[in-house]
Amino acid sequence: MNSQILRNDDLSNNYSRRKFINQAGVGFIAAVAVNSLITNTSYAQNVPLKIRIDPSDLVPVKLNLPALDDPSEVKRPEFFTPLNPEKKIGYAIVGLGHLSLEEILPAFGQSKFAKPVALVSGDPIKAKKVADQYGIDPKNIYNYQNFDTIKDNPAVQAVYIVLPNSMHEEFTIRAAKAGKHVLCEKPMAVSSKQAENMIAACKNAGKKLMIAYRIQYEPHNRYAQKLTREKTFGQVKIIDAVNGQNIGDPAQWRLKKKLAGGGALPDIGLYCLNTVRFLLGEEPDQVLASSYSTPNDPRFKEVEEAVFFQLRFPSGTIANCTTSYGIHQSRRYRCYGAKGGWFGLDPAFAYHLLKFEGSKVVDDHEENFNPSLPEKQQFALEMDHFAKCIIDNTVPYTPGEEGLQDQIIMEAIYESARIGKPIKLDTYNKIDAFRGTFTKSE
Ligand code: NDP
Repeated sequence: MNSQILRNDDLSNNYSRRKFINQAGVGFIAAVAVNSLITNTSYAQNVPLKIRIDPSDLVPVKLNLPALDDPSEVKRPEFFTPLNPEKKIGYAIVGLGHLSLEEILPAFGQSKFAKPVALVSGDPIKAKKVADQYGIDPKNIYNYQNFDTIKDNPAVQAVYIVLPNSMHEEFTIRAAKAGKHVLCEKPMAVSSKQAENMIAACKNAGKKLMIAYRIQYEPHNRYAQKLTREKTFGQVKIIDAVNGQNIGDPAQWRLKKKLAGGGALPDIGLYCLNTVRFLLGEEPDQVLASSYSTPNDPRFKEVEEAVFFQLRFPSGTIANCTTSYGIHQSRRYRCYGAKGGWFGLDPAFAYHLLKFEGSKVVDDHEENFNPSLPEKQQFALEMDHFAKCIIDNTVPYTPGEEGLQDQIIMEAIYESARIGKPIKLDTYNKIDAFRGTFTKSE
């Protein structure tokens, strides 16, 4: 167990369910009702409340305004139509680091179906401040030791795991055993074995598991997927993807093998791997890789600095991927079509301001191809997707199996780099072999 886990104070919520019901009032009653309706699990059996909710209550009310623009203008996007806060899916955020504080918690402000209701942290003072900022009841603050008591808190329906990579397995399994659905950050785990254990735990508990591949919910990347799959520029024959950044403090967990599992590959190279698979819908049948670490750089004593990997797909597409912790940040990809043009995103994997670039043949000349799409809050999109899956009882677009496949391929990439030879992978004839579906409204 690491030092961060050991520094917790005990903030355990050991009050009874009855007391909790009395304290939480109407909002809680509604949450229980929604929960029992949508999960059909132990809450329904444990909580002696019978409240009928019409399923249409779980759909946000759409409002219409009279048209403002001439029909020749670009159609305005639908405006924000959130679900009543009492009916939103309650999330517990586990680990209050950069991603949780800088992106995930603020993103709830743009979420239609999800709300933060609990925090899990090894730092009780920080957790209390954050709870105050987001209006979270301090009774709903947990630490890593008393986390399992979250099972007694029906306000929490989903747990979002935002911890160092090697802790994902343990907290996914504990969350599933506590009867919660799990949204887990990427990389899913530090081995395919761990990923399998996570899938099994959620399956056994009858809970959903989704890996937080935000790119697959983001409109620019989804448009690139459409262009790829519709062969707008013929078959995409080559994809060139780069994700790099200049990593700092050698003491951080990302540079510790035990906590991170690897270096640039599982942290940022995974974006190249996962996005290429998402664009094509195919699975690679072969990988060839090499890796590099600058000698004597204190940052790369335990994990690699850079990995260069080539993925070969059954249709003949080759993806050339580069990831590095030792270069100035660059997060882009380009898809080279067989005829008429190319397209890509630069930046492609950033949180904000993604941008299309490309070129296409028009009559007898070549024009820039850079459609502009509206910016969306990526974390709100993914949290809403998972909340909708819970509400509608559907399989997430990026379930645990999608994360497991990346773990298997990353293991093959490391092995190929180690032996200097290509590694064959299992073949899959199905497109989107490991993905669930989007709902109609997404
Ligand atoms: P941080 O280091 O900023 O935060 C991790 C948090 O985990 C800490 O603040 C701490 O929270 C908790 N923690 C518990 N034990 C430890 C430990 N031994 N060492 C360090 N932290 C510990 O990491 P990030 O927020 O950047 O990353 C968290 C996860 O999110 C990773 O899996 C990462 O890959 C993923 N991620 C995903 C991104 C995306 O775009 N989808 C982007 C960035 C990260 P506390 O103090 O509350 O206990």
